[in-house]
Amino acid sequence: MKKSNILVIGSLNMDWIIEVDHTPIAGETLLGHFAKEVPGGKGANQAYAASSLGGHVTMLGAVGKDPSGEKLLQSLQKAGVNTSPIQANSETGSGMAIIYLNKMGNNSIVVLPNANNTVTKEVIMAHDELFKIADIIMLQLEIPLEAVYEAAALAHKYHKTIILNPAPAISHLPNEILSKIDYITPNETELSTLTNQPVTTVDDAIIAAQTLLLSGVKHVITTLGEKGAILVTLEEARHFPALSVKAIDTTAAGDSFNGALAVYLAEGKSIEEAIVFGNQVAAITVTREGAQSSIPFREEILPTTE
Ligand code: ADP
Repeated sequence: MKKSNILVIGSLNMDWIIEVDHTPIAGETLLGHFAKEVPGGKGANQAYAASSLGGHVTMLGAVGKDPSGEKLLQSLQKAGVNTSPIQANSETGSGMAIIYLNKMGNNSIVVLPNANNTVTKEVIMAHDELFKIADIIMLQLEIPLEAVYEAAALAHKYHKTIILNPAPAISHLPNEILSKIDYITPNETELSTLTNQPVTTVDDAIIAAQTLLLSGVKHVITTLGEKGAILVTLEEARHFPALSVKAIDTTAAGDSFNGALAVYLAEGKSIEEAIVFGNQVAAITVTREGAQSSIPFREEILPTTE
């Protein structure tokens, strides 16, 4: 089977998960129970997922010249990702996320972009060659927006397939960028912020997605947590229910879903088949703790009839 090349351009963060009884309020000093360090960042998680699921994956991004940076690279390399374009920057530390996980299972997260902010428009332009040899380009919004825009422009220039996961949520993306995107994959919150419309039901999500289509995006795939995902194009609006599982940690659910989509598209499968696969992969991810550590390998996914 011919497999296309996947290029992920995005963030790498070391996630520090600190377990607390409750989320600290202003002025409060709290004793935590333990801190765990796990590799994360939306770009890195998506690269990890796509490679673990059988894709040929290269990642472009930046880390600091520090122990976190080394661990972030090692994690991706272990999953088979080509990390050679990732820069190790001595001026700044690696990206970091501090996650307070309280007893109710709720997260409060502070992200420090650090080295991720050094992935500038100029860095993207200097890697023109990577775009030429890639077939599918995966983008998110945890590096400077001007770099994301440049990456979309370059990918479009070379007629590559672009998947944009518009996360974290942003209130506006220019039509000039949206019109270049083949697949946009917001969750409910991101779709609501992006379109300035309420999104709580499947019907709301379809209506909001239809407004995005007017900007020239070709497929809107909205993930709805335990409700699964919906595909909206000019031709159809179709709901793909999630698998019924006992979720214990939804970190990286969306990232694994995106990685799965890219891998199936890279194998020439239809977007409908890719979404079914995405739901299967993400259902396993939510039953395990952590970000990259919760993402399954291809062998763990049972074949479906779709
Ligand atoms: P994000 O992690 O970006 O917020 P979602 O929460 O929408 O994304 O989840 C992404 C995908 O993960 C969903 O489309 C679904 O396939 C899967 N998923 C999330 N939560 C559950 C759940 N409780 N049970 C089964 N699948 C889930």
